[in-house]
Amino acid sequence: MNSIVAIVGRPNVGKSTLFNRLIQRREAIVDDVSGVTRDRHYGKSDWNGKEFSLIDTGGYVEGSDDVFEEEIRKQVILALDECDIIVFVVDVTSGITPLDETVAILLRKTKKPVYVAINKVDNAMREADAYEFYNLGLGEFYTISSINGSGTGELLDAMVSEMPEVDTESTDINPGDELPRFAVVGRPNAGKSSFINALIGKDRNIVTDIAGTTRDTIDTVYNKFGFDFKLVDTAGIRKKSKVKEDIEFYSVMRAVRAIEYCDVAILMVDATRGFEGQDQNIFWLAQKNRKGIVILVNKWDLLDKETNTMKKCEEMIRKEIAPFTDVPIVFTSTITKQRLLKALETAVEVHKSRSNKIPTSKLNETMLELIQNYPPPAVKGKYIKIKYCMQLPTPTPQFAFFANLPQYVREPYKRFLENKMREIYDFKGVPITIYFRQK
Ligand code: GDP
Ligand code: GDP
Repeated sequence: MNSIVAIVGRPNVGKSTLFNRLIQRREAIVDDVSGVTRDRHYGKSDWNGKEFSLIDTGGYVEGSDDVFEEEIRKQVILALDECDIIVFVVDVTSGITPLDETVAILLRKTKKPVYVAINKVDNAMREADAYEFYNLGLGEFYTISSINGSGTGELLDAMVSEMPEVDTESTDINPGDELPRFAVVGRPNAGKSSFINALIGKDRNIVTDIAGTTRDTIDTVYNKFGFDFKLVDTAGIRKKSKVKEDIEFYSVMRAVRAIEYCDVAILMVDATRGFEGQDQNIFWLAQKNRKGIVILVNKWDLLDKETNTMKKCEEMIRKEIAPFTDVPIVFTSTITKQRLLKALETAVEVHKSRSNKIPTSKLNETMLELIQNYPPPAVKGKYIKIKYCMQLPTPTPQFAFFANLPQYVREPYKRFLENKMREIYDFKGVPITIYFRQK
Protein backbone atom coordinates (compact mmCIF):
# COMPACT_ATOMS: atom_id res chain seq x y z
CA MET A 1 0.00 0.00 0.00
CA ASN A 2 1.57 3.24 -1.14
CA SER A 3 1.22 6.53 0.65
CA ILE A 4 -1.16 9.01 -0.90
CA VAL A 5 0.09 12.58 -1.06
CA ALA A 6 -2.28 15.50 -1.69
CA ILE A 7 -1.13 18.87 -2.94
CA VAL A 8 -3.39 21.59 -1.55
CA GLY A 9 -3.42 25.37 -1.67
CA ARG A 10 -5.24 28.29 -3.21
CA PRO A 11 -5.28 28.83 -6.99
CA ASN A 12 -2.21 30.07 -8.85
CA VAL A 13 0.39 29.24 -6.27
CA GLY A 14 1.85 26.59 -8.58
CA LYS A 15 0.22 23.33 -7.48
CA SER A 16 -0.11 21.92 -10.99
CA THR A 17 3.40 22.95 -11.87
CA LEU A 18 4.70 21.15 -8.80
CA PHE A 19 2.52 18.12 -9.54
CA ASN A 20 3.86 17.89 -13.07
CA ARG A 21 7.41 18.17 -11.86
CA LEU A 22 6.96 15.45 -9.26
CA ILE A 23 5.38 12.93 -11.62
CA GLN A 24 7.19 13.96 -14.80
CA ARG A 25 9.18 10.89 -15.55
CA ARG A 26 6.61 8.19 -15.01
CA GLU A 27 3.78 10.11 -16.59
CA ALA A 28 5.82 10.67 -19.73
CA ILE A 29 6.23 6.94 -20.13
CA VAL A 30 2.53 6.26 -19.94
CA ASP A 31 1.53 8.94 -22.38
CA ASP A 32 4.10 7.59 -24.78
CA VAL A 33 2.51 4.15 -24.58
CA SER A 34 -1.07 5.18 -25.05
CA GLY A 35 -0.26 7.90 -27.52
CA VAL A 36 -2.68 10.32 -25.89
CA THR A 37 -2.19 13.12 -23.47
CA ARG A 38 -4.88 13.37 -20.88
CA ASP A 39 -5.49 16.00 -18.35
CA ARG A 40 -4.92 14.23 -15.09
CA HIS A 41 -4.60 15.27 -11.52
CA TYR A 42 -3.54 11.93 -10.27
CA GLY A 43 -0.14 10.34 -10.72
CA LYS A 44 2.39 7.97 -9.34
CA SER A 45 5.90 8.87 -8.48
CA ASP A 46 8.86 7.46 -6.68
CA TRP A 47 11.81 8.86 -4.79
CA ASN A 48 14.63 7.01 -3.06
CA GLY A 49 12.93 3.76 -4.05
CA LYS A 50 9.61 4.58 -2.43
CA GLU A 51 6.54 4.76 -4.60
CA PHE A 52 3.65 7.05 -3.75
CA SER A 53 0.43 8.34 -5.26
CA LEU A 54 0.07 12.02 -5.82
CA ILE A 55 -3.15 14.00 -6.12
CA ASP A 56 -3.26 17.56 -7.36
CA THR A 57 -6.37 19.14 -5.88
CA GLY A 58 -5.90 22.20 -8.06
CA GLY A 59 -7.80 21.08 -11.10
CA TYR A 60 -11.13 20.72 -9.41
CA VAL A 61 -12.28 24.26 -8.69
CA GLU A 62 -12.96 27.16 -10.93
CA GLY A 63 -14.38 30.54 -10.10
CA SER A 64 -13.60 33.68 -8.20
CA ASP A 65 -12.00 34.03 -4.79
CA ASP A 66 -15.21 34.13 -2.78
CA VAL A 67 -16.52 30.91 -4.34
CA PHE A 68 -13.14 29.39 -3.74
CA GLU A 69 -13.02 29.70 -0.04
CA GLU A 70 -15.77 27.16 0.60
CA GLU A 71 -14.54 24.81 -2.14
CA ILE A 72 -11.00 24.88 -0.88
CA ARG A 73 -12.12 24.24 2.67
CA LYS A 74 -13.99 21.16 1.44
CA GLN A 75 -11.01 19.91 -0.49
CA VAL A 76 -8.62 20.29 2.38
CA ILE A 77 -11.00 18.44 4.70
CA LEU A 78 -11.29 15.64 2.15
CA ALA A 79 -7.57 15.53 1.60
CA LEU A 80 -7.05 15.27 5.34
CA ASP A 81 -9.58 12.44 5.50
CA GLU A 82 -8.33 10.41 2.60
CA CYS A 83 -4.62 11.12 2.16
CA ASP A 84 -1.59 10.27 4.22
CA ILE A 85 0.57 13.30 3.59
CA ILE A 86 -0.35 16.89 2.73
CA VAL A 87 1.79 19.32 0.78
CA PHE A 88 0.54 22.85 1.32
CA VAL A 89 1.74 25.14 -1.44
CA VAL A 90 1.97 28.91 -0.97
CA ASP A 91 3.41 31.65 -3.17
CA VAL A 92 6.37 33.66 -1.93
CA THR A 93 5.65 36.54 -4.28
CA SER A 94 2.25 37.28 -2.76
CA GLY A 95 2.95 36.62 0.90
CA ILE A 96 0.27 35.15 3.15
CA THR A 97 -3.24 35.77 1.80
CA PRO A 98 -6.57 35.28 3.59
CA LEU A 99 -7.14 32.05 1.63
CA ASP A 100 -3.78 30.74 2.80
CA GLU A 101 -4.93 31.47 6.34
CA THR A 102 -8.15 29.52 5.75
CA VAL A 103 -6.16 26.49 4.67
CA ALA A 104 -3.62 26.84 7.47
CA ILE A 105 -6.34 26.87 10.13
CA LEU A 106 -7.58 23.49 8.91
CA LEU A 107 -4.10 22.04 8.63
CA ARG A 108 -3.04 23.08 12.10
CA LYS A 109 -5.58 20.66 13.56
CA THR A 110 -4.34 17.51 11.86
CA LYS A 111 -1.94 14.91 13.14
CA LYS A 112 -1.00 13.91 9.59
CA PRO A 113 2.29 15.20 8.25
CA VAL A 114 1.93 18.58 6.56
CA TYR A 115 4.71 20.03 4.42
CA VAL A 116 4.60 23.73 3.69
CA ALA A 117 6.15 24.33 0.29
CA ILE A 118 6.87 27.98 -0.36
CA ASN A 119 6.85 28.12 -4.11
CA LYS A 120 8.30 30.51 -6.70
CA VAL A 121 11.51 30.91 -4.74
CA ASP A 122 13.34 31.02 -8.05
CA ASN A 123 16.43 32.77 -6.69
CA ALA A 124 18.30 33.38 -3.45
CA MET A 125 16.87 36.90 -3.18
CA ARG A 126 13.44 35.44 -2.54
CA GLU A 127 14.67 33.16 0.27
CA ALA A 128 14.52 36.09 2.67
CA ASP A 129 10.86 36.71 1.88
CA ALA A 130 10.00 33.18 2.91
CA TYR A 131 10.36 33.80 6.64
CA GLU A 132 7.01 35.53 6.70
CA PHE A 133 5.39 32.12 6.32
CA TYR A 134 6.37 31.09 9.83
CA ASN A 135 3.25 33.08 10.70
CA LEU A 136 1.14 30.28 9.23
CA GLY A 137 1.82 28.44 12.45
CA LEU A 138 2.78 25.22 10.68
CA GLY A 139 6.42 25.15 11.65
CA GLU A 140 9.20 24.22 9.24
CA PHE A 141 8.84 25.00 5.57
CA TYR A 142 10.56 24.16 2.31
CA THR A 143 11.44 26.82 -0.21
CA ILE A 144 11.06 25.53 -3.72
CA SER A 145 10.79 26.63 -7.30
CA SER A 146 8.46 24.33 -9.19
CA ILE A 147 9.54 25.97 -12.41
CA ASN A 148 13.26 25.30 -12.14
CA GLY A 149 13.08 22.41 -9.69
CA SER A 150 15.26 23.85 -6.97
CA GLY A 151 14.37 22.70 -3.47
CA THR A 152 12.01 19.97 -4.64
CA GLY A 153 14.62 17.28 -3.89
CA GLU A 154 14.79 18.33 -0.24
CA LEU A 155 11.01 18.35 -0.03
CA LEU A 156 10.85 14.84 -1.48
CA ASP A 157 13.62 13.59 0.82
CA ALA A 158 11.68 14.76 3.83
CA MET A 159 8.38 13.38 2.55
CA VAL A 160 9.56 9.89 1.72
CA SER A 161 11.49 9.61 4.97
CA GLU A 162 8.11 9.66 6.66
CA MET A 163 6.58 6.99 4.43
CA PRO A 164 6.55 3.44 5.74
CA GLU A 165 8.77 0.85 4.10
CA VAL A 166 6.39 -1.19 1.98
CA ASP A 167 6.83 -3.77 -0.66
CA THR A 168 4.67 -2.06 -3.25
CA GLU A 169 4.03 -5.20 -5.22
CA SER A 170 2.94 -7.49 -2.46
CA THR A 171 1.18 -5.46 0.20
CA ASP A 172 -2.08 -5.53 -1.66
CA ILE A 173 -1.97 -9.29 -1.74
CA ASN A 174 -1.66 -10.66 1.76
CA PRO A 175 0.95 -13.38 1.57
CA GLY A 176 -0.72 -16.75 1.64
CA ASP A 177 -4.12 -15.20 1.17
CA GLU A 178 -5.71 -16.34 -2.07
CA LEU A 179 -9.00 -14.54 -1.66
CA PRO A 180 -9.58 -11.80 -4.19
CA ARG A 181 -10.09 -8.29 -2.93
CA PHE A 182 -12.51 -6.36 -5.13
CA ALA A 183 -13.11 -2.65 -5.31
CA VAL A 184 -16.28 -1.44 -6.98
CA VAL A 185 -15.41 1.89 -8.53
CA GLY A 186 -17.00 4.34 -10.90
CA ARG A 187 -18.78 7.65 -11.19
CA PRO A 188 -21.40 8.69 -8.67
CA ASN A 189 -24.79 7.13 -9.50
CA ALA A 190 -23.43 4.37 -11.71
CA GLY A 191 -24.98 1.81 -9.36
CA LYS A 192 -22.06 0.82 -7.14
CA SER A 193 -24.01 0.72 -3.88
CA SER A 194 -26.84 -1.18 -5.54
CA PHE A 195 -24.34 -3.73 -6.84
CA ILE A 196 -22.64 -4.10 -3.48
CA ASN A 197 -26.00 -4.50 -1.76
CA ALA A 198 -26.95 -7.17 -4.26
CA LEU A 199 -23.70 -8.97 -3.49
CA ILE A 200 -23.63 -8.78 0.25
CA GLY A 201 -27.28 -8.12 1.02
CA LYS A 202 -28.71 -6.33 3.97
CA ASP A 203 -27.73 -9.11 6.34
CA ARG A 204 -24.17 -9.02 5.07
CA ASN A 205 -23.28 -12.63 4.60
CA ILE A 206 -20.03 -12.42 6.48
CA VAL A 207 -17.95 -15.55 6.78
CA THR A 208 -15.08 -14.32 8.89
CA ASP A 209 -14.02 -10.94 10.03
CA ILE A 210 -10.30 -10.37 10.20
CA ALA A 211 -9.42 -6.97 11.55
CA GLY A 212 -7.68 -4.99 8.84
CA THR A 213 -4.59 -3.07 9.73
CA THR A 214 -5.43 0.32 8.33
CA ARG A 215 -9.19 0.30 8.08
CA ASP A 216 -11.13 -2.36 9.88
CA THR A 217 -13.71 -3.04 7.20
CA ILE A 218 -11.54 -3.96 4.26
CA ASP A 219 -10.60 -7.47 5.25
CA THR A 220 -14.10 -8.79 5.71
CA VAL A 221 -14.73 -12.00 3.79
CA TYR A 222 -18.02 -12.30 1.92
CA ASN A 223 -19.62 -15.22 0.20
CA LYS A 224 -21.99 -15.02 -2.74
CA PHE A 225 -22.93 -17.53 -5.46
CA GLY A 226 -20.39 -19.88 -3.94
CA PHE A 227 -17.47 -17.46 -4.23
CA ASP A 228 -15.45 -16.15 -1.32
CA PHE A 229 -14.06 -12.66 -1.77
CA LYS A 230 -13.32 -9.44 0.06
CA LEU A 231 -14.76 -6.08 -0.78
CA VAL A 232 -12.88 -2.85 -0.38
CA ASP A 233 -15.56 -1.11 1.57
CA THR A 234 -15.60 2.38 0.16
CA ALA A 235 -18.98 2.87 1.79
CA GLY A 236 -17.19 2.73 5.11
CA ILE A 237 -14.87 5.44 3.97
CA ARG A 238 -17.79 7.47 2.71
CA LYS A 239 -19.56 7.51 6.06
CA LYS A 240 -16.59 9.10 7.67
CA SER A 241 -16.52 12.07 5.39
CA LYS A 242 -18.07 15.25 6.61
CA VAL A 243 -18.77 16.76 3.25
CA LYS A 244 -21.09 16.15 0.38
CA GLU A 245 -19.78 13.24 -1.53
CA ASP A 246 -20.76 13.80 -5.09
CA ILE A 247 -18.04 16.23 -6.04
CA GLU A 248 -15.71 14.93 -8.67
CA PHE A 249 -12.65 15.41 -6.58
CA TYR A 250 -14.07 13.17 -3.91
CA SER A 251 -14.95 10.37 -6.27
CA VAL A 252 -11.42 10.43 -7.68
CA MET A 253 -9.94 10.41 -4.23
CA ARG A 254 -12.13 7.50 -3.22
CA ALA A 255 -11.19 5.58 -6.34
CA VAL A 256 -7.49 6.16 -5.74
CA ARG A 257 -7.79 4.76 -2.25
CA ALA A 258 -10.01 1.83 -3.20
CA ILE A 259 -7.86 0.85 -6.16
CA GLU A 260 -4.69 0.92 -4.10
CA TYR A 261 -6.26 -1.63 -1.77
CA CYS A 262 -7.74 -4.04 -4.29
CA ASP A 263 -6.61 -6.90 -6.51
CA VAL A 264 -9.37 -6.41 -9.06
CA ALA A 265 -11.16 -3.17 -9.81
CA ILE A 266 -14.77 -3.61 -10.89
CA LEU A 267 -15.38 -0.48 -12.91
CA MET A 268 -19.04 0.33 -13.05
CA VAL A 269 -20.23 2.40 -15.99
CA ASP A 270 -23.71 3.87 -16.39
CA ALA A 271 -25.07 2.50 -19.68
CA THR A 272 -27.27 5.53 -20.14
CA ARG A 273 -24.30 7.89 -20.04
CA GLY A 274 -21.69 5.88 -21.86
CA PHE A 275 -17.99 5.69 -21.14
CA GLU A 276 -16.91 9.15 -20.07
CA GLY A 277 -13.68 10.93 -19.24
CA GLN A 278 -13.97 10.11 -15.58
CA ASP A 279 -14.46 6.42 -16.38
CA GLN A 280 -11.38 6.56 -18.52
CA ASN A 281 -9.36 8.10 -15.70
CA ILE A 282 -10.42 5.42 -13.26
CA PHE A 283 -9.60 2.74 -15.81
CA TRP A 284 -6.18 4.26 -16.35
CA LEU A 285 -5.64 4.41 -12.62
CA ALA A 286 -6.34 0.72 -12.17
CA GLN A 287 -4.18 -0.17 -15.15
CA LYS A 288 -1.31 1.93 -13.91
CA ASN A 289 -1.51 0.23 -10.53
CA ARG A 290 -1.40 -3.15 -12.33
CA LYS A 291 -4.76 -4.18 -10.91
CA GLY A 292 -7.12 -6.61 -12.56
CA ILE A 293 -10.02 -4.87 -14.31
CA VAL A 294 -13.61 -5.83 -15.15
CA ILE A 295 -15.96 -3.32 -16.74
CA LEU A 296 -19.62 -3.54 -15.86
CA VAL A 297 -21.99 -1.63 -18.10
CA ASN A 298 -24.80 -1.21 -15.61
CA LYS A 299 -28.46 -0.12 -15.93
CA TRP A 300 -28.62 -2.28 -19.02
CA ASP A 301 -32.36 -2.63 -18.36
CA LEU A 302 -32.83 1.03 -19.30
CA LEU A 303 -31.51 0.75 -22.83
CA ASP A 304 -33.67 0.21 -25.90
CA LYS A 305 -31.98 -2.75 -27.41
CA GLU A 306 -31.70 -3.33 -31.08
CA THR A 307 -29.82 -6.19 -32.68
CA ASN A 308 -26.37 -4.72 -32.30
CA THR A 309 -26.63 -2.54 -29.22
CA MET A 310 -24.36 -4.65 -27.09
CA LYS A 311 -21.75 -5.11 -29.78
CA LYS A 312 -21.70 -1.41 -30.60
CA CYS A 313 -21.43 -0.43 -26.98
CA GLU A 314 -18.59 -2.87 -26.48
CA GLU A 315 -16.72 -1.55 -29.50
CA MET A 316 -17.13 2.00 -28.29
CA ILE A 317 -15.67 1.15 -24.89
CA ARG A 318 -12.76 -0.79 -26.37
CA LYS A 319 -11.90 2.23 -28.45
CA GLU A 320 -11.80 4.37 -25.33
CA ILE A 321 -9.57 2.02 -23.37
CA ALA A 322 -7.08 1.30 -26.17
CA PRO A 323 -4.39 0.04 -26.30
CA PHE A 324 -5.30 -2.18 -23.33
CA THR A 325 -8.48 -3.60 -24.82
CA ASP A 326 -8.25 -7.17 -23.57
CA VAL A 327 -10.67 -6.48 -20.73
CA PRO A 328 -13.93 -8.30 -19.96
CA ILE A 329 -17.08 -6.22 -20.35
CA VAL A 330 -20.29 -7.45 -18.71
CA PHE A 331 -23.70 -5.86 -19.20
CA THR A 332 -25.56 -5.80 -15.92
CA SER A 333 -28.63 -4.56 -14.15
CA THR A 334 -28.75 -4.42 -10.41
CA ILE A 335 -32.53 -3.87 -10.64
CA THR A 336 -33.39 -6.99 -12.67
CA LYS A 337 -30.32 -8.78 -11.26
CA GLN A 338 -29.21 -9.51 -14.80
CA ARG A 339 -25.70 -11.05 -15.03
CA LEU A 340 -24.67 -10.22 -11.50
CA LEU A 341 -23.41 -13.78 -11.07
CA LYS A 342 -21.55 -13.44 -14.36
CA ALA A 343 -19.99 -10.20 -13.13
CA LEU A 344 -18.71 -11.82 -9.97
CA GLU A 345 -17.56 -14.93 -11.84
CA THR A 346 -15.61 -12.75 -14.26
CA ALA A 347 -13.95 -10.79 -11.47
CA VAL A 348 -12.87 -14.05 -9.84
CA GLU A 349 -11.45 -15.27 -13.17
CA VAL A 350 -9.49 -12.07 -13.66
CA HIS A 351 -8.06 -12.45 -10.19
CA LYS A 352 -6.92 -15.99 -11.09
CA SER A 353 -5.34 -14.88 -14.35
CA ARG A 354 -3.49 -12.16 -12.52
CA SER A 355 -1.40 -14.79 -10.79
CA ASN A 356 -0.80 -16.88 -13.94
CA LYS A 357 2.76 -18.12 -14.10
CA ILE A 358 4.09 -19.28 -17.45
CA PRO A 359 6.93 -21.80 -17.12
CA THR A 360 10.12 -20.38 -18.61
CA SER A 361 10.66 -23.30 -20.99
CA LYS A 362 7.15 -23.06 -22.42
CA LEU A 363 7.38 -19.30 -22.73
CA ASN A 364 10.67 -19.49 -24.62
CA GLU A 365 9.47 -22.26 -26.87
CA THR A 366 6.42 -20.28 -27.93
CA MET A 367 7.71 -16.74 -27.95
CA LEU A 368 11.14 -17.34 -29.50
CA GLU A 369 9.58 -19.15 -32.43
CA LEU A 370 7.15 -16.31 -32.91
CA ILE A 371 9.93 -13.76 -32.65
CA GLN A 372 11.95 -15.68 -35.22
CA ASN A 373 9.05 -15.39 -37.66
CA TYR A 374 8.37 -11.74 -36.80
CA PRO A 375 11.66 -10.23 -35.60
CA PRO A 376 11.85 -6.62 -34.44
CA PRO A 377 12.71 -4.29 -37.31
CA ALA A 378 16.39 -3.41 -37.67
CA VAL A 379 17.37 0.03 -36.43
CA LYS A 380 20.19 2.01 -38.07
CA GLY A 381 21.19 -1.14 -39.94
CA LYS A 382 21.53 -3.14 -36.74
CA TYR A 383 19.64 -6.36 -36.15
CA ILE A 384 17.99 -6.90 -32.80
CA LYS A 385 18.30 -10.44 -31.54
CA ILE A 386 16.06 -11.60 -28.75
CA LYS A 387 17.64 -14.62 -27.13
CA TYR A 388 15.67 -15.46 -24.07
CA CYS A 389 12.62 -14.49 -22.09
CA MET A 390 11.14 -15.15 -18.70
CA GLN A 391 8.33 -14.16 -16.42
CA LEU A 392 9.63 -12.23 -13.45
CA PRO A 393 8.89 -13.53 -9.95
CA THR A 394 6.57 -10.59 -9.29
CA PRO A 395 3.01 -10.99 -7.95
CA THR A 396 1.58 -9.48 -11.14
CA PRO A 397 2.55 -10.59 -14.65
CA GLN A 398 5.75 -8.96 -15.79
CA PHE A 399 8.09 -10.31 -18.42
CA ALA A 400 11.69 -9.73 -19.33
CA PHE A 401 13.00 -10.25 -22.85
CA PHE A 402 16.76 -10.37 -23.18
CA ALA A 403 18.30 -8.94 -26.34
CA ASN A 404 21.58 -7.69 -27.73
CA LEU A 405 20.23 -4.18 -28.30
CA PRO A 406 17.30 -3.76 -25.91
CA GLN A 407 17.32 0.02 -26.25
CA TYR A 408 16.30 -0.25 -29.90
CA VAL A 409 13.09 -2.16 -29.29
CA ARG A 410 10.24 0.21 -29.94
CA GLU A 411 6.82 0.51 -28.37
CA PRO A 412 4.87 -1.01 -31.31
CA TYR A 413 6.95 -4.16 -31.13
CA LYS A 414 6.41 -4.48 -27.40
CA ARG A 415 2.71 -4.08 -28.01
CA PHE A 416 2.87 -6.75 -30.70
CA LEU A 417 4.48 -9.16 -28.23
CA GLU A 418 1.97 -8.26 -25.56
CA ASN A 419 -0.94 -8.88 -27.91
CA LYS A 420 0.49 -12.24 -28.96
CA MET A 421 0.92 -13.26 -25.33
CA ARG A 422 -2.65 -12.23 -24.68
CA GLU A 423 -3.78 -14.45 -27.57
CA ILE A 424 -1.80 -17.42 -26.33
CA TYR A 425 -2.19 -17.14 -22.57
CA ASP A 426 -5.13 -15.98 -20.52
CA PHE A 427 -4.49 -12.47 -19.27
CA LYS A 428 -7.94 -11.05 -19.81
CA GLY A 429 -8.41 -7.96 -17.67
CA VAL A 430 -4.85 -8.17 -16.39
CA PRO A 431 -2.29 -5.45 -17.14
CA ILE A 432 1.02 -7.01 -18.12
CA THR A 433 4.40 -5.35 -18.35
CA ILE A 434 7.19 -6.19 -20.76
CA TYR A 435 10.78 -5.17 -20.20
CA PHE A 436 13.69 -5.45 -22.55
CA ARG A 437 17.04 -6.11 -21.00
CA GLN A 438 20.62 -6.54 -22.08
CA LYS A 439 21.81 -10.09 -22.59
P1 GDP B 1 -2.18 26.21 -9.46
O1 GDP B 1 -3.40 26.99 -9.81
O2 GDP B 1 -1.87 26.29 -8.00
O3 GDP B 1 -2.21 24.81 -9.95
O4 GDP B 1 -0.96 26.97 -10.18
P2 GDP B 1 -0.21 26.66 -11.57
O5 GDP B 1 0.69 25.48 -11.41
O6 GDP B 1 -1.19 26.65 -12.65
O7 GDP B 1 0.74 27.94 -11.64
C1 GDP B 1 0.23 29.26 -11.64
C2 GDP B 1 1.24 30.18 -12.29
O8 GDP B 1 2.43 30.26 -11.51
C3 GDP B 1 1.67 29.72 -13.67
O9 GDP B 1 1.80 30.82 -14.50
C4 GDP B 1 3.02 29.06 -13.42
O10 GDP B 1 3.86 29.13 -14.54
C5 GDP B 1 3.57 29.92 -12.29
N1 GDP B 1 4.53 29.20 -11.46
C6 GDP B 1 4.39 27.95 -10.93
N2 GDP B 1 5.49 27.62 -10.24
C7 GDP B 1 6.36 28.65 -10.33
C8 GDP B 1 7.68 28.89 -9.81
O11 GDP B 1 8.31 28.07 -9.14
N3 GDP B 1 8.23 30.11 -10.10
C9 GDP B 1 7.58 31.04 -10.85
N4 GDP B 1 8.20 32.17 -11.10
N5 GDP B 1 6.36 30.83 -11.36
C10 GDP B 1 5.74 29.67 -11.09
P1 GDP C 1 -23.66 4.73 -6.75
O1 GDP C 1 -23.64 6.21 -6.50
O2 GDP C 1 -22.72 4.36 -7.83
O3 GDP C 1 -23.47 3.91 -5.51
O4 GDP C 1 -25.11 4.39 -7.34
P2 GDP C 1 -26.41 3.80 -6.60
O5 GDP C 1 -26.26 2.34 -6.37
O6 GDP C 1 -26.73 4.64 -5.42
O7 GDP C 1 -27.49 3.98 -7.75
C1 GDP C 1 -27.84 5.25 -8.23
C2 GDP C 1 -29.26 5.19 -8.80
O8 GDP C 1 -29.31 4.33 -9.94
C3 GDP C 1 -30.26 4.64 -7.81
O9 GDP C 1 -31.46 5.36 -7.97
C4 GDP C 1 -30.44 3.19 -8.25
O10 GDP C 1 -31.70 2.69 -7.93
C5 GDP C 1 -30.26 3.30 -9.74
N1 GDP C 1 -29.73 2.06 -10.32
C6 GDP C 1 -28.63 1.38 -9.91
N2 GDP C 1 -28.43 0.29 -10.70
C7 GDP C 1 -29.44 0.30 -11.60
C8 GDP C 1 -29.78 -0.58 -12.71
O11 GDP C 1 -29.13 -1.59 -12.99
N3 GDP C 1 -30.88 -0.24 -13.44
C9 GDP C 1 -31.63 0.86 -13.15
N4 GDP C 1 -32.69 1.11 -13.92
N5 GDP C 1 -31.33 1.70 -12.14
C10 GDP C 1 -30.24 1.42 -11.37
